[in-house]
Amino acid sequence: MNTDDLKGLSEKIAAQLAAAGARAWIPGPVRPEPPGRPTAGALPAWAAAAQSLPDVGPSRRPGHPRHRVDYAGLVVAARQAAAARGPSPLPAGSAAGSARRGTATSAREVPIGVSNRHLHVSQTDVATLFGAGKALTAKRPVTQPGQYATEETVTVVGRGGKIDGVRLVGPARGRTQLELSPADCRTLGIAAPVKLSGRLEGSAGGVTLEGPAGRVTLESGVIVAQRHLHVAPADAQRLGVADGDEVAVECGPAGRRVTLHDVAVRMGPTHATELHLDVDEANAAQVATGDAARIVARGRGERRGRRPLLTERDVALLAARGETLAAGGPYLLTPAARDRARALGVWRERP
Ligand SMILES: [Zn+2]
Repeated sequence: MNTDDLKGLSEKIAAQLAAAGARAWIPGPVRPEPPGRPTAGALPAWAAAAQSLPDVGPSRRPGHPRHRVDYAGLVVAARQAAAARGPSPLPAGSAAGSARRGTATSAREVPIGVSNRHLHVSQTDVATLFGAGKALTAKRPVTQPGQYATEETVTVVGRGGKIDGVRLVGPARGRTQLELSPADCRTLGIAAPVKLSGRLEGSAGGVTLEGPAGRVTLESGVIVAQRHLHVAPADAQRLGVADGDEVAVECGPAGRRVTLHDVAVRMGPTHATELHLDVDEANAAQVATGDAARIVARGRGERRGRRPLLTERDVALLAARGETLAAGGPYLLTPAARDRARALGVWRERP
């Protein structure tokens, strides 16, 4: 077969193929190009190297955007810590965290805000004390967003004495609450319990508020505010705390240094990070608003309690005893334990 024969043969094959039509040929797989023209040199959107973890890593951490973990931020923090240019992003107490105690310290510092005696008032009591239709006048904002000290003051009268010029903190709340220091309680001759703001079960009464327009006698609502740490969600990771935790803090200059235990952590979008102490506590440690305190220990508060962690084995044992488990119960379940409980038919979605 010479060159001409070969040429003739290839022309015949080409003619046959053309006659059969293009559809007879199965097109090879082609990866579709994504919409939009890729920039020269840029990785196509579908390339594995162009993906970033934040797009795939889900996050269930409160205060963080859903389904997004700031891996880029974590990488930067880890690299800075490795280069000793920033605090360790690792939780304190881990080997790496305690090895770098010097730099980790600043990561656990919080500013102190000293709370003088003050009154939160209900709308009804505002009307009684200052006159119907009277609104509270803001004097200056306090650190917690949206709250302010008012121009208005009241006189608080107790069995043992009275205190003039008690400042109100607005805006008006659902229920009137008077926050005093233990020394104030002694002045007034009352015994108020230590309570978290807003938890008024068992709070004291027996004081009278005197305003320019009238008086209100409180049956309850008088407390010594439990020392607490407001935490903005953005600071939760740095401080390693969550809402409901209890921490111990150290503050004060040499010679007056104190460690305060039972500091309740309150976290939420309306909170600014600040440790709230009353005047007595601040005087004992000789600290003032704006000084720094340092978190020295962390614990689980009442809300998280001491809920035991149940494993698959525990669930099987409980099921064998005829017990059932429910979401929100006084225990925590590993994911596998929950699946086991479902499979054994001893799981209820509602308590
Ligand atoms: Zn507070």
